[in-house]
Amino acid sequence: MVASRRFFVIGNWKMNVDTATINNIIDTMTDASLDPHTEVVVGCPSCYLSYARQQLPSRIGVAAQNCYKVDRGNFSGEISPAMIKDCGCEWVILGHPERRTIFSESDDLIHQKVTHALDAGMKVVACVVETQKDKQTGCTEETLFAQLKALAAAITDWSRVVLAFEALWASGTGVLATPAEVQEVLAKLRQWLRQNVSNTVANTTRIIYAGSVSSTNCQELATLKDLDGFLVGSAALKPDIVHIINARTTHVSRLASYFNSLRTDDRSA
Ligand code: PEP
Repeated sequence: MVASRRFFVIGNWKMNVDTATINNIIDTMTDASLDPHTEVVVGCPSCYLSYARQQLPSRIGVAAQNCYKVDRGNFSGEISPAMIKDCGCEWVILGHPERRTIFSESDDLIHQKVTHALDAGMKVVACVVETQKDKQTGCTEETLFAQLKALAAAITDWSRVVLAFEALWASGTGVLATPAEVQEVLAKLRQWLRQNVSNTVANTTRIIYAGSVSSTNCQELATLKDLDGFLVGSAALKPDIVHIINARTTHVSRLASYFNSLRTDDRSA
């Protein structure tokens, strides 16, 4: 966590909402006091993009959860960056683990989608994923670097990209990644950017973590050196999302009160 990289939290609603639940989540988020230093985005199903954009305050961004690699054409069921922008939204999530695994999206297709989305002026949350098999077979580094290589070749403007690392084996499985495990991978991804793109990109690109982030583990994870935020799934549907958005504030204010209490102790000694 580096001050120049603004903390970033995206709550991905996946295919788990309808108008009523969207209204509830929006009420929870707008009634709460959200850390103004955190950039907040929600990942919304395409049929609710306009609705969510209209209901949410402008300080909360809205992302589509996927898009296709061209502007328009005979591609039933797909949406384009142009359509997302027409709904008033500026973000898109690409290469999400569920797109890669359930829908078999290849690195090549994701590369083309990222290229087109950036060309169309969008901001992209680009995901790389470690599966249980990668972890068990010791292939994590190889897999993530291959995915990152395909993404990096598509990225012309890193200032419009947030890189998300998801430990899929820790998503909804009851097994959590330890902070040390998360930091190790994030540091490797940043080092890859340093060696293969540039120092500036390595220093300025936000790398966020996904994999059962909740109100219970977010504060400890938020202290990690190379972590700049979270991609949140199930907890994004609950009031937990507020704690996650405020994970760094809470940590900083806890540190501040600890140091204040030390000063008070000094004065009373
Ligand atoms: C996700 O898959 O986008 C995700 C982060 O889900 P969860 O937080 O539920 O693990």
